[in-house]
Amino acid sequence: MISIEQALAIILENTPVLAAEEIDFTLATGHLLREDIVSDLDLPPFPRSAVDGYALRAKDVMTPPEKLRVIETIPAGKFPERSVGPGEASQIMTGAPVPKGADAVQMVERTQVNRDLVEVLASVQQRQNIAQQGSEVHINDMVLRAGTRLDPPAIAVAATVGRTRLLVGRKPHVSIIATGDELVHPATRPQAGQIRNSNGFSLLAQCAGAGVMASYLGVAKDTESSLTQLIGQGLDKSDVLLLSGGVSMGRFDLVEDVLNHLDVSCLIKKIALKPGKPMVFAVAKNGNLVFGLPGNPVSTMVTFELFVRTAIARMEGAEKPVRPLLQAKLQRKLVSKGSRRAYLPGWVQIREGDGALLAFPVPTRGSGDIVAFSKANALLIVPEQSDYLDSNDPVAFHPLDSFLAKEDRWAMEKLQNA
Ligand code: AMP
Ligand code: MG
Repeated sequence: MISIEQALAIILENTPVLAAEEIDFTLATGHLLREDIVSDLDLPPFPRSAVDGYALRAKDVMTPPEKLRVIETIPAGKFPERSVGPGEASQIMTGAPVPKGADAVQMVERTQVNRDLVEVLASVQQRQNIAQQGSEVHINDMVLRAGTRLDPPAIAVAATVGRTRLLVGRKPHVSIIATGDELVHPATRPQAGQIRNSNGFSLLAQCAGAGVMASYLGVAKDTESSLTQLIGQGLDKSDVLLLSGGVSMGRFDLVEDVLNHLDVSCLIKKIALKPGKPMVFAVAKNGNLVFGLPGNPVSTMVTFELFVRTAIARMEGAEKPVRPLLQAKLQRKLVSKGSRRAYLPGWVQIREGDGALLAFPVPTRGSGDIVAFSKANALLIVPEQSDYLDSNDPVAFHPLDSFLAKEDRWAMEKLQNA
C-alpha cells in the first residue's frame, strides 16, 4: 500500500502532456493556455476619456465657474480634428480619444452648456478623467501566461489584444466502463440482487465537470471475456480509460488480471486512502492510461477527484494540477479510525459577518452512501495519524466543484441541527 502522495507522484510521472492545438477563442473557456500572449497594442491605445464631459486645459478652470468655447464634439470611435487651445473645450464621450491640447476632462455633471459655450462649475486636476495611452499595458507586454486556465476575463484579454486563435492543451479522450453482473441501467427497475448503475454516469458527470467530454462504453460483466472485449475497445480509442468496480479482493474482481493479460502494466494497486483503498493505475504500451476505480459509488467519485482529475489537468499541460487544500473550523467531532488518510463528506459554510469557514461532517453510512455524499460540498480530511478530530479543531478540506456553487438550505439546516 502506498501513500496518496506516492500515488500522485507515480500518476504524474506516467501522464504525458498532450500536444497543444489551436482553437477559436470563442471556444476556449476552460481550456489550458499553452502559449504566452503579448499585447499588440498599448492599452489604452490612445488617451481615453473615462467620462462623458468636456476635454479642456486644467489651468483654464482653476477659478470656477469659467466659460469655455466648445469647438468640437467627439463621440467614441471618432478621432478629434481640432486641438484644444486657451479658453476652449471639446465635448467628449466616454471612451473617446482626448484631443491634443487638452490635459483633463471635466464630467458633464459639473458643467452647464449654453449654445457653443460651456460653463465649467468645478476645477479639475491635470490628467483627471483621462486614461493615458499605455497606462494599463505597453505594446509587447505579456498579458496571459502559458499555463493559465482560460476563464472569462482571460477571454476578454485575448479579444482585446486581437488573439482570435489560441494555442491550448488538447483535452484527453476519456472512455468509461462500469463493471459488475449486478448492474442494470438506471431506466430499469432492478430485479432481486440487482442495483442500478450509478458510477457510469457519475463518472460522465465528473468528466464534464473537469471539462472533458467522455464516451460511456457500457457495462462489462464480471467475466474475463466481457472485460477483455470492452477494455480492448476502450484502450483503442482513449487517452484515458476509466473503469469502476472489480478491483478489490473478491473472486470476481478480474480487472487487474485482464489488464495484465492485455499487457497493460499496473503501477498502483492499493493506496492508503479511505474510501478508495483498492485503486488500479495502469499504463498501456502506447502510453494510454487506465484507472481501475473502486466500485463503491463514493469511492469512485473520491478517487476520480483526487487522481483522475489531476491526470486530466496534467495531460492538458497544467504544471500544478493538484487542487489546493483549504482549512475550516470543525463544528462536530469527526471520526475515522485506522491508519489511512480519510476524505469524508462535509458541508463547509461561510459564516456571515466574518467570513470564517465552518465545517460540518455529513452523517454517512459509508462509501456506498451516495445520498449522503450528494449533500457534501467538500471532502474533510482526517490525517493518517489521528482517529478523530474534535469539534473546534482546524480541519483541512478539499473543496469539491460545488464548493461555492452549492446552495442547499435543506441539507444545511439538517446538518446544523443534527
Ligand atoms: P466492486 O468493487 O465491484 O466489488 O463493487 C463494490 C460495490 O460497489 C458493490 O456493492 C457494487 O455493487 C457497487 N458498485 C459497483 N459498480 C457500481 C456501479 N457502476 N454503480 C453503482 N454501484 C456499483
Ligand atoms: Mg463488482
